[in-house]
Amino acid sequence: MPAKRTYLDWNATAPLRATARASAIAALCCTGNPSSPHAEGRRARALVEEAREKVALLVGAEPAEVVFTSGATEANNTVLAGGWEAILLSPTEHDSLLAAAHASGARLHFLAIDGQGVVDAAGLAAQLAGLAGRRALLSLQIANNETGVVQPLGELAAMAKRHGLFVHSDAVQGAGRLAIDIATRDLDFVSLSAHKIGGPAGSGALIVRRRAELAPLLKGGGQERRRRAGTENIAGIAGFGAAAAAARSEVDAFGNVLRLRDWLESEVRAMAPEAVILGAGTERLPNTSCLALPGTRAETLVIALDLAGIAVSAGAACSSGKVASSHVLRAMGVADEIAAAAIRVSLGATTREADIARFLAAWDEAALRTRRRLVA
Ligand code: PLP
Repeated sequence: MPAKRTYLDWNATAPLRATARASAIAALCCTGNPSSPHAEGRRARALVEEAREKVALLVGAEPAEVVFTSGATEANNTVLAGGWEAILLSPTEHDSLLAAAHASGARLHFLAIDGQGVVDAAGLAAQLAGLAGRRALLSLQIANNETGVVQPLGELAAMAKRHGLFVHSDAVQGAGRLAIDIATRDLDFVSLSAHKIGGPAGSGALIVRRRAELAPLLKGGGQERRRRAGTENIAGIAGFGAAAAAARSEVDAFGNVLRLRDWLESEVRAMAPEAVILGAGTERLPNTSCLALPGTRAETLVIALDLAGIAVSAGAACSSGKVASSHVLRAMGVADEIAAAAIRVSLGATTREADIARFLAAWDEAALRTRRRLVA
């Protein structure tokens, strides 16, 4: 295996930031339960509250609205289990949201999407018409983890609020990459994950706006203002806080990431005009490219690129490590041959031109030459 690695899988997990690592280690060395009134407990409490302020600032929330969780999976499950009569959602949501929706007992209304994966506002309007007086939730991700496609959340959330719905957004992939200010958006609940912004995995948050009530998913102690029981993961939370502060100051720097992503795509198109870039016809995250070369197989390509020192994902890298067919691409109506070839390349703030050049050389070898050999 080449010693030099090029990491282009930031949507799966971002490298741990030095500042998050230092904060987490310092917190690990701190003895004390944040619920204890003595000096040790108060010191642990201070670490949690300091992190709470930083996470709140990342999305324009009040610190009191931040509920620390074990990650976005738990945050999504907490919201979806909220006793809803009806849940409106996109078929392109993350598995943690879809599975929780199916388990919720609510009536599910899947929203129509176009070929880019964008929810159709007219379709939403039609679904809203029948929900007057019901305890109903609209749950829509800010941006898709596979394609980077950004939803017109402001417009759709405002429509849902006019009909009295609660609105949740899985903002995992948008946080730190798009400016998010929930105070100016009609959002009641927002899910966040630390490890997508350079914090430790196993830490996340659910933002619950003051006006919204939600029963705790985990019951027991009175932690997190009775909204999530269990002694706080102080190291994970401190690392999350440090990552959130760093990510917030970096959002503007994503112009450079966009430039690199666009360069990658234009080179791919120049090398193989038949390559398909999924979601390219609409607004996308600046760091994500979901690309397919017809006639190749994503899992073969991922392995070949790995051997060449490049880390990327198959379109739908699922948690078991196996590659399942992507429900996102299927819902977008992408042909099976293209979906089976789709790989996701996701960049981050420390990605450099040399990383993209290395990817392009390896992709040329792994995808184009292999295909030429097969065709010959
Ligand atoms: N939502 C989205 C859009 C994601 O990309 C992920 C992670 O892959 C999650 C939720 C789950 O986050 P966590 O790993 O913190 O449970």
